Amino acid sequence: MRNTGLQGRIDSLGRLCIPKIIRDGLGLEQGTLITLWVEQDRIILQKQEQTCVFCHSSAPCIEYKQKLICGECLKTLLRFRSK
Ligand SMILES: [Zn+2]
Repeated sequence: MRNTGLQGRIDSLGRLCIPKIIRDGLGLEQGTLITLWVEQDRIILQKQEQTCVFCHSSAPCIEYKQKLICGECLKTLLRFRSK
């Protein structure tokens, strides 16, 4: 872990802006899922990998009830439904 020397201030709604240089460096785009870890007095933000909940593929996924499903698994599920 390295100190970036950057600081932020939490606003009245509890939000903290992640500086653009860090977002760009980590590939954090609007909508990227982030997991928050709390360890004593530290908060650790971890980019959530966008993988299918069933096969763990990183192919493009759709989100349903906060779970990601890839196109192949979705097709398989739809086949079950039509039987
Ligand atoms: Zn899948």
